[in-house]
Amino acid sequence: MRIARNNQELEQVLSNYKLKNSDHTIGFVPTMGALHEGHMSLIDQASSKVNFVVASVFVNPTQFNETADLDRYPRTESADIELLKLNNCDLVYIPTVDDIYPNNKSNYSINLKGLDKVMEGKYRDNHFDGVCMVVERLFDLVKPNYAFFGKKDFQQVAIVSHMVKERGLNVEVMSCPIMREESGLAMSSRNMLMSNYEKDQATIISQSLMSGVKVYQAGFKIDRVIETMLSIFYRGSLELEYLEIIDNTTLQEVTELNDNCTVCIAAYCGSVRLIDNFQFSR
Ligand code: AMP
Repeated sequence: MRIARNNQELEQVLSNYKLKNSDHTIGFVPTMGALHEGHMSLIDQASSKVNFVVASVFVNPTQFNETADLDRYPRTESADIELLKLNNCDLVYIPTVDDIYPNNKSNYSINLKGLDKVMEGKYRDNHFDGVCMVVERLFDLVKPNYAFFGKKDFQQVAIVSHMVKERGLNVEVMSCPIMREESGLAMSSRNMLMSNYEKDQATIISQSLMSGVKVYQAGFKIDRVIETMLSIFYRGSLELEYLEIIDNTTLQEVTELNDNCTVCIAAYCGSVRLIDNFQFSR
């Protein structure tokens, strides 16, 4: 596996690869590091689709709205490199902030048609501007044919897909399933910040979401579904930020449930903010 630590190195590895392979297809997995099996599932999906897999590891400052959160975001670079090697990634790009934002690019703007105003957007000011800014920059540098994103960040995949259309970018966004611990807890880099006791407590999130899906499958309406999820959630000790049932396309809250809906949740387990979601299906 090659490691590129700046744009020049990235450019060099990519052009060598393209020169040697006339049928080149590049799959890209952008990450913020502290890698786990969830990230590796994206690498695997990329490997099965393309012949050159690029991952990036970059803790993007513009998508954090609290410096304290940015500062304590887990960073495990050497373990990340080992895990990517083991999973047959071809190239990892580990840029510096200057590499990504050479001119302190603060004049970035994109019309996200309100997709950024709901859920995460309500609680994390300008978060999605930061996400789009970094993803667009990374796409421009890596020029992938396919980019792989996890449904774990449901709103993010919707917004990146919208951004790709809005900007007319030549990349296909692939949306990949959520990987979970055996306990049901969605894998996340932030899980590293929790004690075993807290991780155990945090399983209430998936338990509550799953119970909602079951109640839906049993034929109950939205009010009963929400009531069930909340009653299970509040059996635990986490603090709820939001629980919303939204339409998969518009991301707007719905008043009636169908198979095109997802329940999304954000909650604090101690000081660690966790998100998760389940799609409704009969
Ligand atoms: P992050 O490093 O948290 O920015 O995540 C990088 C990519 O990995 C994003 O597309 C995430 O949605 C995806 N991802 C994170 N956790 C999981 C998971 N548990 N299952 C699947 N994909 C995930």
